[in-house]
Amino acid sequence: MSYQLKFETGSIADKISGLTEIEALSFLANAFEERIVFNSSFGWEDQVITHLILSNNIGVEIFTIDSGRLFDETYKVWNSTNKQYNANIKAYYPLQENVEDYVSNNGPNAFYESKELRNQCCFIRKTEPLQRALAGNTILVTALRKEHLPEGREIVPVEWDELNQVIVYHPLLYWTTDEVKNFIYRHNIPYHPLHNKGFVRIGCAPCTRAIKPGEDVRSANWWWETKKAREYSLSTASF
Ligand code: SF4
Repeated sequence: MSYQLKFETGSIADKISGLTEIEALSFLANAFEERIVFNSSFGWEDQVITHLILSNNIGVEIFTIDSGRLFDETYKVWNSTNKQYNANIKAYYPLQENVEDYVSNNGPNAFYESKELRNQCCFIRKTEPLQRALAGNTILVTALRKEHLPEGREIVPVEWDELNQVIVYHPLLYWTTDEVKNFIYRHNIPYHPLHNKGFVRIGCAPCTRAIKPGEDVRSANWWWETKKAREYSLSTASF
């Protein structure tokens, strides 16, 4: 099945080329009998996609991964989004025994101590739940935008994710920051209050920070590590 899917990626990209985001999401939801999911972190871009899906009744399941280390504000946006759209965004959590082992052996903030311990934490709290969320699904929608990519990294709106064995669709890949913000304001979409305090990404509280205007977007996460180590961590499926 995956083998076949991998080789369908190009033809799917051709079929949705030139469609609006709503048309493309609808086409994919119909073509793949709703085995299409969207992973939201409740940032600006996530909220645009959530609005497109829920206000147009598109058959894409929205889920979030609650790593257990999210900002308080994230839960408020999550809750107000559920209320505004009369929706229930699905939650995936890390496996309790994995978190207990990691924290008992290393301490609650061991991710600051080495790249290995940070990768272990990310695997336990984000990657493993993502793998469970993707099981049985065919297409993952992400909120990735070109402005957030590491320098020199080129991707296309529809691509094959070898690691997770799914087709990934990035509907907002070419949207600018202003386009995202204007869409949010125009449609009165609930958004994360930390965006008003210089946060460009929304992730785990200990590993995400505000940046200054003009500062490299990539320094918003894992700023204590080298640039190379940070870029290695940014898989497109994790957005
Ligand atoms: Fe752990 Fe930080 Fe990764 Fe969140 S972003 S899973 S707190 S290392």
